[in-house]
Amino acid sequence: MIIPIKIYPDKILRLKAKPVESFNTDELKQLIADMKETMLKKDGMGLAAPQVGQSIRLVVINTKAGVLALINPQVMPLTLRREKMEEGCLSFPKIFGLVKRCRKIKIKAFNFEGKPVNFKASGLLARVIMHEVDHLNGILFIDRAEKITGGVDKLNEMKKNEVSD
Ligand code: ZN
Repeated sequence: MIIPIKIYPDKILRLKAKPVESFNTDELKQLIADMKETMLKKDGMGLAAPQVGQSIRLVVINTKAGVLALINPQVMPLTLRREKMEEGCLSFPKIFGLVKRCRKIKIKAFNFEGKPVNFKASGLLARVIMHEVDHLNGILFIDRAEKITGGVDKLNEMKKNEVSD
């Protein structure tokens, strides 16, 4: 099922998401399947659970080898080298910005069954994972962007509606 995407400045995008505690459940399986379907339908490279209204630590990533679901993910930098690239986000339609991110990272997460998953990633894959993990901490790419390269006026309009409490 395609789930409607929460668009900035929806408040859920600023919450710190809660860890997943129950693995291997029908509910989790369904959410992962729906998030995959939604991400692929919207041509996204990744999607975080808060973007579909669930404030839990789950992301799906679109990789060449297929879709990867990462639960309670942790990211550690493996280099000081950083790279600048243009990013977008399904919660910010038609808005783009230049974001500098670490080139190489180590990921520790759990899969659907609750088994640990550890791997290294670099370049674009590392970038997508860091972008999605940021979502779990209420951090959005506009917070990290050095420069907004597309949709500046639209973003400024949207920002007016972000009320902090
Ligand atoms: Zn995003």
